[in-house]
Parts: sequence; structure tokens; C-alpha cells
Amino acid sequence: MKRDLAADFSYLAKEIEEWKLEGIFRPLTELESEQGAKVTIKGKEVIQLSSNNYLGLTTHPRLQKAAIAAVEQYGAGTGSVRTIAGTFSMHERFEEKLAQFKHTEAALVFQSGFTANVGVLATILTKEDVVISDELNHASIIDGIRLTKAGRRIYKHADMEDLEKALQESQSARKRLVVTDGVFSMDGDIAPLEQIVELAEKYDAIVMVDDAHASGVLGKNGRGTVDHFNLHGRVHIQVGTLSKAVGVLGGYVACPQVMRDYMVQRARPFLFSTSHPPAVTAACHAAIEVLEEEPELVDKLWSNTRFFKQGLEKLGFNTGKSDTPITPVIVGEGSLASRFSDELFSAGVYAQAIVFPTVAKDAARVRTIVTAQHTEAELEEALAIFSEVGKRLGII
Ligand SMILES: *Cc1c(COP(=O)(O)O)cnc(C)c1O
Repeated sequence: MKRDLAADFSYLAKEIEEWKLEGIFRPLTELESEQGAKVTIKGKEVIQLSSNNYLGLTTHPRLQKAAIAAVEQYGAGTGSVRTIAGTFSMHERFEEKLAQFKHTEAALVFQSGFTANVGVLATILTKEDVVISDELNHASIIDGIRLTKAGRRIYKHADMEDLEKALQESQSARKRLVVTDGVFSMDGDIAPLEQIVELAEKYDAIVMVDDAHASGVLGKNGRGTVDHFNLHGRVHIQVGTLSKAVGVLGGYVACPQVMRDYMVQRARPFLFSTSHPPAVTAACHAAIEVLEEEPELVDKLWSNTRFFKQGLEKLGFNTGKSDTPITPVIVGEGSLASRFSDELFSAGVYAQAIVFPTVAKDAARVRTIVTAQHTEAELEEALAIFSEVGKRLGII
């Protein structure tokens, strides 16, 4: 019997219709060029302000060459999960390299930053433990917490009094783990990691920081938030991504050796999902070498950040409280953010709207991220476009 399969999803179609009426339905955008400071979308070349390609490494010649060489020598895939037959020497050498770069005993790579967070949180906590999490932490941390049987406490964003209260009230747990994003992805603010570490030391809790937007951005050579605050040896778990500034794909956990040993035996995304293809691992390895040898990329990222952020502020936009290359332009209503993004595109800038449920209903925004690849002329052009469209829509 042939069935009308789509009809069984009419309840989903109804919701989609509502989003369209509200003006918050966002279709996928197709890139027709490589990722870069300018990209081609719908046949039109526009200034890219929405990628996480902070340092332009997605197209760095050294990464591309490493990927091609790895494909030629080792093939396109690995054919197994790490724990059965899919650990290649290059996976182990890369993890040693990462640990050395992060100044930790060990590192373990996962398929993505998302699975790294889920893997860690779901693996090392039991029902005797409590996880204490910032309310604005990334979705992958939230999902990791959902998979543990540990008790959970959510503290108000970056609110150290509320964190201390949670630590006081959970003292009977076997272990408490405090988890925070290093850089918050929607507002671009940096976690108060020094205070978090001090409180964790006072109450004997474990600290975990998710450095997805800080890897390659903060600290010496882009070593991350722990390096930025000089907290080496005081943060137990650093999760990072290889998919943003590092320019490729993957997630990692930099941690004590004992934790790596445990996760290799028990972390489900590590055990039950195939290892990275040779091209990915080789390109990631080359990216860490680029971070070590070309610190000028991180310097350029920050000078571009200052230039663009000051430009937006001078124009009178509400850019929130960002301390990093992520600069939100907060407009309020989701439909206005969507319209702003569409009009910016028509004028030559790609800056995606971020709406509920990713941010609060009244804090919809267009989020911008400058990269080391943008020239000052491109940023000036982008500012002129923001000014013109912002005035036309009554945002400034
Ligand atoms: C992007 C992001 C992740 C996920 O990383 P992927 O490698 O893209 O899966 C995790 N945490 C935070 C804070 C992020 O911004």
C-alpha cells in the first residue's frame, strides 16, 4: 500500500507555516564559492560576516596541501571507529600535538565539538554528582547534561553569587562539575573564568570550559581562554572545536591522562562513531602548526575586530557586551532581524539573523564575525552598508 508519508507530518507543516507568518523561518543559504572574506551566494559576491572561519584557515595552503597528501597516502576514509580498527598513527600524533599546544597531559579528539561536550558530560558524571552550568551555555552542553543522571543546577549568566550559592547547596554530592562556555557564542562575552576557578577551588569542584569560540582566538597563539587568563593547571577539562578558527572539523578534550584513558573506554560518541578521515586529521595538525608559526593571523583578527566594533558603535548600533570578534547587532523583534539581514544581503553583506529559540524573543539580532582575512576596505564597505540599511529600517 502506498502511503501519503508527508501527511503524517502535517503537525510539523503547521508549525512551519506559523514561523513563516511570524517572519522567522530561515531557509538555508547556499555558498557557491569557497569560504572567505567574500563569498558568492545566489550568484552575487558579498562580504561574509557570518562564518566562524576566524583566521581564514579553511583555505590556508598548508592545510589544503596536508589534506591532499593525506588522501593520496591513506585514502578518503578510515573504515572503523577508533576503538576497533580506526585509530591511525596520525590520530595519535595529532592528539599528542594538541596536548602539547594546550599545555595539558593529554587530549582526545571527537567527531565534532558537539559530540565532545556530549561525550564528556555523559561519561564522567553519575547520579551521585551534580553539574552546575551557566544558563547561556551552548546547546551541546545542555544536551550532554540531559544525558547524565547527575543532579543539575543552572546559574544565571556569569553571575558569581548564583554560582557560589549552587556550590554551597550541592556540597553533599560526590563531585561537582562547573561548566561554562569560554566565549559565549551569541553575545561574544568572555566567561569570568578566574572567579569561576577561585570558587571551584574554594568548594572543591571540577572546572570544565568549552573553548569553541576561543580556540584560535584568545590567548597566546590562540591557545584559548585558560591561556588568556593564565590559568594553566587550574582548569580540569578544556573542550575545544577544530571546526571554527582551526578551519576544519572536529572537537577535542584537553585533560589529564586519566580522563583520556577513561573516555577511550567509555565515551559513547568515541566508541560508536567512526574516526576522522585522514584529510581532516592531517589538516587539523597543519592548522595547529600554523597557529604556532603565524601568530600575525591572530593579531590581524584582533585589529580587524577593534576596527569593526568601534565602527558599529560609532554608528549607534546596540552591540551588547561583546569582548571578542563576535559582535551582535541587537534589534529586538525576530521579524526585524530577518528583514535587516535580507536587506544587508541585497546591499552586499552576508550577516545572518539569529532569532528565537537561539536567543530570547526580544533580543533577535544580526550577528557579525570579522576574520583575519577581511581587508580594512572591505570592513569600511560593510560599515557603510550597515549604516545605510540601519537608517532605512529605523534601527539607528
Ligand atoms: C560551535 C560550538 C560547539 C560545537 O562545535 P562543532 O565542532 O561545530 O560541533 C560547541 N560549543 C560551542 C560553545 C560552540 O560555539
